Amino acid sequence: MGARYLKQEHHLLRESFCRFLEKEARPFFEKWEEDRLIPRSFWKKLGDNGYLCPWIEEKYGGLGADFAYSVVITEELERIGSGLLGVSLHSDIVVPYIVSYGTEEQKERWLPGCISGDIITAIAMTEPGAGSDLAGIRTTAIADGDHYVVNGQKTFISNGIHANLAVVAVKTDPHAKPAHKGVSLLVIEDGTPGFSRGRKLNKVGLHSQDTAELIFEDCRVPKTNLLGQEGKGFRYMMEKLQQERLMVALMAQTSAEEMLAETIPYLQTRKAFGQTISSFQHIQFTVAEMATEIELGRTFLNQLIESHIAGQDVVTQVSMAKWWITEMAKRIAGHCMQLHGGYGYMEEYPIARRYRDIPVSAIYAGTNEIMKSIIAKNLGL
Ligand SMILES: Cc1cc2nc3c(=O)[nH]c(=O)nc-3n(C[C@H](O)[C@H](O)[C@H](O)COP(=O)(O)OP(=O)(O)OC[C@H]3O[C@@H](n4cnc5c(N)ncnc54)[C@H](O)[C@@H]3O)c2cc1C
Repeated sequence: MGARYLKQEHHLLRESFCRFLEKEARPFFEKWEEDRLIPRSFWKKLGDNGYLCPWIEEKYGGLGADFAYSVVITEELERIGSGLLGVSLHSDIVVPYIVSYGTEEQKERWLPGCISGDIITAIAMTEPGAGSDLAGIRTTAIADGDHYVVNGQKTFISNGIHANLAVVAVKTDPHAKPAHKGVSLLVIEDGTPGFSRGRKLNKVGLHSQDTAELIFEDCRVPKTNLLGQEGKGFRYMMEKLQQERLMVALMAQTSAEEMLAETIPYLQTRKAFGQTISSFQHIQFTVAEMATEIELGRTFLNQLIESHIAGQDVVTQVSMAKWWITEMAKRIAGHCMQLHGGYGYMEEYPIARRYRDIPVSAIYAGTNEIMKSIIAKNLGL
């Protein structure tokens, strides 16, 4: 790997986190996939061992660690299975909203629980009628005294079943022009009257990840749960998307690396026509091409992680990485399944699960078409 941002402390973290996962996750992951849920007890163990939100300041209970910690944790979770993505979503995508835009009172109230694993978070932007076009959301939050009354529905929400707290994109001004100026972010807590969960959604892959609908019916949310300022929600979401998309690219890259690593030994042991199939030139060339694409992805990604750690605006390049790496990982999944022959289509082979899990990375966190629109716009088109 050899990334320049990885120092001794990160290698040590990787060693101890791998040991933790071998004991606490790998033996149970298959069952979690069948149950279609990761138990809360696993979240709690992550929290107890300092693996949730390690980057948060010590005064709230965090470790004050750098972003490379998050990278290592995300990679190792992905190596166990893509179904664990909700952990990185919580630590590195949702909680950063509270840290960046929350008041001191909000941070003191929520961050310790986010770090300990007592609070699991979700981000709820997408609605049945609005995904890519976020300014078109219909969930309203109308001021009424010292509360907002929230009405609407969100869908495809990761961690939706477990979440104790959701950062919800709402329209505080449904008539604002342009529409995105009416968007605000509200933190809605489990148990708030009028907040309920719909179905746990039945997905093609990511089976252990809980994805759900969230429903708000005259849900009264205290105004003190507004994140940042009214009408700035859209801007906040745009500011946070660089890290969100970088994380998705990282998960897809890691998955591609795993798929190839799982496939090579298979090719070296499987025999056909009296020889191992890895001795056929076509297979060697396919592997060589995959290894090259994976190397390209990793080099680009490592460079972007370095720039992100340095605080640079790399939105355009991250959009490029998000679409290219997720498409690359989809290609790798197809090739690796093919190289396994019929066994690749059997559930007991890891490639089958990875083949199911990977396509959604081209869809969520902004579809790859939206990534290309951003790139084109930033090129002046
Ligand atoms: C497993 C899973 C987990 C998810 N987790 C979350 C979550 O935690 N929180 C959350 O808020 N959302 C989540 N999502 C939602 C996800 O972000 C949306 O599905 C995604 O943004 C696309 O929105 P959509 O489904 O409404 O598709 P649409 O916006 O309807 O798009 C349909 C198709 O049209 C294309 N399209 C749309 N607009 C354009 C355009 N201008 N130019 C070219 N093509 C275009 C799209 O690229 C896509 O191919 C999740 C989705 C899934 C499947």
